[in-house]
Amino acid sequence: MTKIRTGVSLKPFHTFGTSVSAEMLAEAASAAEAQEIIAYSQTSNLPLTILGGGSNVLFSHDLDGLVLLNRIKGIGEADRDDTTIKVRVGAGENWHQFVEYCIRNNWGGVENLALIPGNVGASPMQNIGAYGVELESVFDSLEALHIPTGEMHSFSKSDCSFGYRESVFKGKFRGQYLITHVTFALQLQPNFNTTYGAIELELESMGVEKSIRSVADAVIRIRQSKLPDPKVLGNAGSFFKNPVVNGLQFLNLVSEFPDIPTYPAGTDQKKLAAGWLIEQCGWKGKRIGACGVHEKQALVLVNYGGATGEEIYALSQHIMDDVADKFGVYLEREVNII
Ligand SMILES: Cc1cc2nc3c(=O)[nH]c(=O)nc-3n(C[C@H](O)[C@H](O)[C@H](O)COP(=O)(O)OP(=O)(O)OC[C@H]3O[C@@H](n4cnc5c(N)ncnc54)[C@H](O)[C@@H]3O)c2cc1C
Repeated sequence: MTKIRTGVSLKPFHTFGTSVSAEMLAEAASAAEAQEIIAYSQTSNLPLTILGGGSNVLFSHDLDGLVLLNRIKGIGEADRDDTTIKVRVGAGENWHQFVEYCIRNNWGGVENLALIPGNVGASPMQNIGAYGVELESVFDSLEALHIPTGEMHSFSKSDCSFGYRESVFKGKFRGQYLITHVTFALQLQPNFNTTYGAIELELESMGVEKSIRSVADAVIRIRQSKLPDPKVLGNAGSFFKNPVVNGLQFLNLVSEFPDIPTYPAGTDQKKLAAGWLIEQCGWKGKRIGACGVHEKQALVLVNYGGATGEEIYALSQHIMDDVADKFGVYLEREVNII
């Protein structure tokens, strides 16, 4: 049986840097070990929490029961044709190290997603996205352990119902599956996506030709200039999703706030920039006790040291209330509250 530790601090296992502990913690290095740990939690009636890199969670309290750290490793070629290579990756591989692996092999598709923290197994959970690319565009399939029955199930792209920071694993199957492996379909002939203007500008200032390496480097430079490093300042990236509004709500908002930035989001819908809405409510750079809103990016809540999960949650609620009062728009948390 895999070693189970008791009374473990979770501080090293998440990026918000709050002090929380787990009643029990176990690491799974294979699907079989994960099955064993899950079976133990079920026979002992222990609540189960799955954790990857802990970069998209806010713990609101100490955790009863068992925390399972997914540490399933391995990267291997699954299939290949003239244009595409399929690569099967263990859910416990670090996401950015996987992106670097693809870059070294000259496989295209994930370069815009460089430097996103966390592990491969969580990438389909919210269909991670950045700089004009979402995971969905390189996703082939995944394997996952069905927690209630212990059976392995496969999911194709359409089974996952990917949306903006959404999938079935955050929706109707929340808490029901442990993702063990993800298979990606990557390009052997890179097809660059530099629709995000900032990437083109960064490439120009770097004075380099467009390549998988240089696009990733441009993304890394932009991210490092804008986002706080969780090793220095606790955070979980964007705390809120960008809200989507319908045509009528959009027209009302534009008539009252002519400068409001909007982006197309399907038929009769517009996406708003949550960061802009928060900034307009005066929250950018504001600090309350040991937590606050980052000075360069209003979407990011930060722990200056010593903040609790409850304090950060209360701050997020305060921001959501202010945005709702001023704009009539309801922000949704992107971060998983546990
Ligand atoms: C500085 C910073 C920048 C960020 N930038 C971005 C960005 O640009 N785009 C973006 O999309 N995200 C971004 N994020 C959020 C985060 O990095 C991603 O959501 C990432 O995929 C989370 O991975 P993780 O392994 O840390 O997941 P965790 O935080 O460990 O878990 C997240 C959720 O998934 C569940 N989970 C984790 N692994 C599994 C598994 N194997 N099977 C089933 N459930 C699982 C957990 O229970 C939890 O509910 C950023 C975060 C930070 C700190």
